Amino acid sequence: MTALLQVDDLCKRYERFALKNVGFEVKAGRIVGLVGKNGAGKTTALKCLLHFLEPDAGHVQVLGQDFFANETALKQRVGAVLGGAEFYPLKRLRTIAAVTRRFYSCWDEAAYQRCLARFELDESKRFQELSSGMKVKYLLTLALSHQARLFVLDEPTSGLDPVSRAELLELFRALAKSGAGILFSTHITSDLDRAADDIVYLRRGQVVKSAPKEEFCRAFSKGGSALSLEEILLRAERKEAPLELPV
Ligand code: ADP
Repeated sequence: MTALLQVDDLCKRYERFALKNVGFEVKAGRIVGLVGKNGAGKTTALKCLLHFLEPDAGHVQVLGQDFFANETALKQRVGAVLGGAEFYPLKRLRTIAAVTRRFYSCWDEAAYQRCLARFELDESKRFQELSSGMKVKYLLTLALSHQARLFVLDEPTSGLDPVSRAELLELFRALAKSGAGILFSTHITSDLDRAADDIVYLRRGQVVKSAPKEEFCRAFSKGGSALSLEEILLRAERKEAPLELPV
């Protein structure tokens, strides 16, 4: 089966940080958690693969096609929610939707209205009047309104209250069940315990391991008792006697 998203050898160098040969895939029906501590390079990786940032090198395929060569067409099929998107802060939601609608040939007004109702969002509000959780919900509403097959979300659950977080993860499950692929970054391991099928662990700009969740936990627990994701990440990141990383 062709992956919905295939990332190979993605590189991006800043003065004091480098993303090095990052590669992983997102298959249809799978929820992939991109995990790593602050500064590991999660946002940089997501921005590079979505071409919001220009990578120095690397290949990205969406639905089996070269993403950078067919960006305009393929972006129709990608729902992206990047944190801190403070676009149009003074505009009302209905104006933002009117602008967004024009970019997507597959805009689904009924889906948009359903999402607004589901998230209890008031279209007459200005974007900057929304709480951070509501901002995420609104960005997600836009992403869910153009029949995307692949969703790429940067820390979508941060800023959400526990009930909204659980609802969002449930929504991810429903999307995956319908055949979508979801890639989301987080440093909240309980989100991964609850929702992720696959884990991509990024550390200092490099993928340490990318595997189905159970295999990921097994790989780090070799020889000892089974470790939870939280324990694995805590131990792998500690300065003294860090957990040995599987090769
Ligand atoms: P994460 O999302 O995992 O917290 P980021 O991708 O935001 O990590 O950041 C990774 C590293 O890249 C950090 O050290 C950050 O300071 C650095 N970085 C991010 N953006 C820039 C930039 N525009 N110029 C220089 N360094 C940057």
